[in-house]
Amino acid sequence: MSFEQLGLRTELLRAVSEAGYSQPSPIQAKAIPVVLQGGDLLAGAQTGTGKTAGFALPMLQRLSEKTPQHSGAIRALILTPTRELAAQVEASFRLYGKYLPLRSTAVFGGVNIRPQISVLRKGVDIVVATPGRLLDHVGQKTIDLSQVEMLVLDEADRMLDMGFIHDIRKILGLLPRNRQNMLFSATFSNDIKRLADGFLKAPVMIEVARRNTAAEQVDQVMYRIDKGLKRALLSHLISGSNWRQVLVFTRTKHGANRLASQLDKDGITTTAIHGNKSQGARTKALADFKQGRVRVLVATDIAARGLDIEQLPFVVNYEMPNVPEDYVHRIGRTGRAGNTGNAISFVCSEERKQLHDIETLLQRRIPLQEQEAGLKLISSAVDSPARRPQRGGGAAPSNRQPAKSPRRSARPAGKSYRPQAGAANARVGRASR
Ligand code: AMP
Repeated sequence: MSFEQLGLRTELLRAVSEAGYSQPSPIQAKAIPVVLQGGDLLAGAQTGTGKTAGFALPMLQRLSEKTPQHSGAIRALILTPTRELAAQVEASFRLYGKYLPLRSTAVFGGVNIRPQISVLRKGVDIVVATPGRLLDHVGQKTIDLSQVEMLVLDEADRMLDMGFIHDIRKILGLLPRNRQNMLFSATFSNDIKRLADGFLKAPVMIEVARRNTAAEQVDQVMYRIDKGLKRALLSHLISGSNWRQVLVFTRTKHGANRLASQLDKDGITTTAIHGNKSQGARTKALADFKQGRVRVLVATDIAARGLDIEQLPFVVNYEMPNVPEDYVHRIGRTGRAGNTGNAISFVCSEERKQLHDIETLLQRRIPLQEQEAGLKLISSAVDSPARRPQRGGGAAPSNRQPAKSPRRSARPAGKSYRPQAGAANARVGRASR
């Protein structure tokens, strides 16, 4: 299956090819024909599957095929749970739509509303928004939703987790009845099903990853470790194995800040991203991390939602999430778009219940990393925390260990979804650069 075969117009094919995509991902192959035909869609797709292009490409095509009834009116609305995801989705619309005369903008909180008002006033076709700020605009009458033809709820499960259900219902009530609807969700709770039943009309249902399964491209392991030794183990793994780009999850904002400054003290450049940081600080933290100016990004679950970092090789669950689905979301930050990744969990005795819930959800055990040798090193690292552990020293306790150097373990981004022998060879080739 190629993008041409999906019937996309040349402007979109050109943009997709320039983005380096050689073929549609499974979600794209399934979703694009449905959306092009104007049907409603209920899609079960994890982040990292290429779902954004799955809705953005056919939406751009449909929008460009029809002249709007009112020029400058908003014709497509995409709701996302977080600011980062809104910015990312809007960037995707820009990327894929760069050869089409359609305008898009992102509308989210945490930043001055005035520049958003002036962009909206000039007229845009596509708005990607978080629910709260969108309703602020509605309240100030700076946005007109009466001409919306297409609606997407992206990462709907997370929007419900974050308590946006009332906002979503309010927004649904402001839209014209006759419109095309799409709902994307990684998981399907009863609440999601109820929401979907309430606004989707005879939706086509598609699902690409098994429900609630962790990304298959991710090698998962866990360490059983005392709470007080976690930080030393993390420093040890990062320095000792020379990990270059590591996304670390903590449960709380305070914990994220504390860990970031401790790692910095250990000589590992680190920044934190969480909801108490201004939008400017969050954007800067993400940019620093993506561009390699810092090695570690410590994040809370909500802030990390929607982060798309190409070739992210390592995710560390420094603290296990209370909600098992969050584990799936967290590790889905790596192993994206056909790459592989490593997810390493630190589980202390108080986190047994979380681990049990996660393993029940996954319907599999997370392999345990043997750690005697590693622990000895950790204990000595605790004795003198400022000392940098020797490279390659002893933290390779078993042959199942994920803590190889990123050069060997993180397969680089081939932008193909085909897990073929050829692709594997290509990976080896690039990995040994
Ligand atoms: P998403 O699940 O939409 O967040 O997409 C995850 C990543 O996959 C993004 O970095 C996209 O640029 C990338 N991507 C999307 N579609 C394709 C494709 N057909 N081939 C390769 N990479 C893709």
